[in-house]
Formats: sequence, structure tokens, C-alpha cells
Amino acid sequence: MTSPSPITTATAAIPNRKKLFIRTWGCQMNVYDSTRMADVLAPLGYGPAETPEEADMVILNTCHIREKASEKVFSDLGRLRLLKNEKEAAGQKMVLAVAGCVAQAEGAEITARAPWVDIVLGPQTYHRLPEMVARASRAAGAQIDTDFPVEQKFDLLPEVSANQGPIAFLTIQEGCDKFCSFCVVPYTRGAEFSRPVAAILAEAKRLVAGGAREIALLGQNVNAWHGEAPDGSSWTLSRLLYELAEIDGLARLRYTTSHPRDMDDALIGAHGRIPALMPFLHLPVQSGSDKMLAAMNRQHKAELFFRTADKLREARPDMALSSDFIVGHPGETDADHAATMALVEKVGFALAYSFKYSSRPGTPAAGQPLQVAEAVKDARLQELQALLRQQQDDFNRACVGRECEILFTGPGRHPGQVAGRTPWLQPVHVMAPAHWAGRLGKVRIDAAHPNSLSATLLSEKELATA
Ligand code: SF4
Repeated sequence: MTSPSPITTATAAIPNRKKLFIRTWGCQMNVYDSTRMADVLAPLGYGPAETPEEADMVILNTCHIREKASEKVFSDLGRLRLLKNEKEAAGQKMVLAVAGCVAQAEGAEITARAPWVDIVLGPQTYHRLPEMVARASRAAGAQIDTDFPVEQKFDLLPEVSANQGPIAFLTIQEGCDKFCSFCVVPYTRGAEFSRPVAAILAEAKRLVAGGAREIALLGQNVNAWHGEAPDGSSWTLSRLLYELAEIDGLARLRYTTSHPRDMDDALIGAHGRIPALMPFLHLPVQSGSDKMLAAMNRQHKAELFFRTADKLREARPDMALSSDFIVGHPGETDADHAATMALVEKVGFALAYSFKYSSRPGTPAAGQPLQVAEAVKDARLQELQALLRQQQDDFNRACVGRECEILFTGPGRHPGQVAGRTPWLQPVHVMAPAHWAGRLGKVRIDAAHPNSLSATLLSEKELATA
């Protein structure tokens, strides 16, 4: 669901006079949003900076999922205050903005605690960033915009920069109406919104023209996407995937993050019928206990997850699954934890993310009684992670000796290596000429390492399609 470490976003390479540094925490949707903020600021003359020290503007694009998220943002803001003061003493100016879900959730609290912040903006108002930057440079005092505006930001943002590399991300859906008990997304990202078909197809074609061979469709609830087609009808995700698969030059498709309840039969069937749709799906289940799934308001039972996993593997026998787990949600007993362990044993995962439940202020679970003791949560998490790690290792080891195609993405770890991704999203390192980046090639997997595979290139010839 999320990665806890911050990611530094490469911004658009354009002729520029000013420098922009964006630090991104959290999921791929935040990474995508950071790219869009860079796009929206490019016409103002902002180009990429490698470090905050060389930047005229710094944006912290925040994530509220993990515990102490806002404290981490405030400690970063403390460091940036010193930098801002140094720049001002030298007669320079630095605009400081906080964006993303912490900005949405904390709003004016940020400028109250950190009055040196110039701009606070929520995820729905990135299109207003140029106006806020202009106001911030004219007026003293912070600009705050955490509205859920009537106008759609996607209609007002500039076209996405086409050159994202061999793997590109495309947001098709945002927000969530499901209100899981532990999650802030419905509050920070707002109601579910699906981008229309024409806008998605146009963006996908631009990305492919810019060199993308793989597109990952993004959404907080991506498989709930239902976009309006040019003829006024409503398409589901499976219909969109068939259409995207027709784009010349596009070899691979993925989508994330999905909800088990929205995995309809047409979408499951698409996995068997669209070769470009990769045999790897991230499908968060969170718990194996029906009692906990109800307490989490997940709106499905474990049985639905079992059925969906079976149907996906029937449709596409090489399908591998990844998932998210929350351990120690209020009310979780030893028996509930055992049900989660049993689900993991039964389904088998190639990859998984598991976390201890942490109270998110404002979410329904935060005020619930029967909070689980930290020591109990720790013990359950360790047990679960040991099993998940073993399954991941088993999956990677089972790939050794297998021939498969990989998409080469860029330089590898060692000189002469090129890195790539298998259909199951594993990182692979292969001895190959550097110009293979962006191509598809057939390899044989030689070895499985803790977090990657190594392989031998089998043919000098690029694969034409996925
Ligand atoms: S489905 Fe649940 S976990 Fe996922 S974004 Fe919506 S509320 Fe959050």
C-alpha cells in the first residue's frame, strides 16, 4: 500500500531559471502527484533540483498512513526552517510547501506549528499551485488550500510529461467511498472519482509515444473505476484494459490498488484474455478473520478472497498475488490472528506488506475499545512476517531456471549490468549492453537473492511484444 521512506522525485527537464525539490512519502499515487506538481510549476520556470539546498522551492508531499507521519513532517520542516533562514540571510528566497494527506488532515495546524511554511495544499488542489506560489511570493503569511473543489484538478492540470521512462504511472481514479475503519483516505482524498475514458487513453498514448512500454494504472480503489466513455456510456476497468492493450508499442499493463469486493468476473477474466496484463496482482486482504474484516468495515469475508484468488489462478495459471495485512486492529484475538495465518498458508503470496495497526486520528477505529497491547502486536507481526518472508523466498527460488521476459529499465547494480522487472514485478539484474534499457528481452533466471534475481540474456533480439 505504501512505502515508508521518502522518495525524491525527478522533475521535468526543461529550460528553467528556478529550482524545485520535491520530497515524496507514501504510495505510487503520491509519486504520480509529485510529477504532476512539477509539471504544473514548469511554466513558472521551475526545473529539478537535486537537493533542498539548491532549491528555490521545496515541496514535502506527505503520507498519513503510517504512525507518526505528521511528526516526521514537522521534524523535516524544522530542518528546512534553518535552510530557509540561511537563504534569507544571504538575500535569497525559498518557498516552502506541504502537500499530500498530512496537509489535508492537519491544515492550519501546520502553519500554526511551523509559521515559516508558505503553502499548505491538499491532494485535490494541485492545479491551484501556481496561483498559490504567486500569492506566497507577494504576500506575507501562509496560503492554505485544503478544499475539495467542485472543479476537477485533472481537467485543469497540464498534460502529463510524456517521458517517464519504460515504466509509467497513470492515475485513473482517486478517492474512496469504502471507509475502512483504519484508513484516512476517504477523509484526505475525498469521494471516489473516475477519470473519463478519453483523457486516460490520450494520456496513455502520450506516455507510450514518450517511451513507456509498461503502464501501471493507479487509484486508491482502482478496480472501482467506472469512467465515462465518449458515447456517454460507463466503462468498467476490464473494458478499459482491453482498449489500452490495443495501443501500439504498449507491452505491459498493471493496475493498483484493488479492493477484493470490486474484483468482478469480467476483470478476473481479462487476466486470462489480455496477454499484456501482467500475472501479478496486489490485492489487500488485511485479515483472515471474518470478525476482524467486519470490524475493519472491509465489506467482504475471507471466503470472497479465497474464491477470487482461485478464479484468478484459473484465468491465468501463472498468477502471483501480493497483499497488505494489518496486525492488532482493536478487538483482534489470538483466534483472529490464527485465521490470518491460515489465510496466508492457504493462498500463498509472492510479496506482502504487513504493519501493526496504528491509530489514525479521526478514523472510526481510533476510538474503539479493546486496543491490542504493543507486545502482542509485535509478536503477531513477527510471526506473520516470518511466514510471508518464507513464501516470498519460496516464490523467488521457484523462478530459478525459468525462462521469462523482462522489461529492462535502466542501469543495474554492477558495471555492465542492466536492471529490469519480471512479469511478477521482481527486480532482475542481467549482464547486457546499456542500450537494452527500455527493451523487452527473454532471460533465464539464474539465482534468487534476498530482494532481487539475477539472470542471463537469452537472445540478442528484442521481443516485439509482451
Ligand atoms: S478501500 Fe479502505 S483501505 Fe483502501 S483506500 Fe478505501 S478506506 Fe482506505
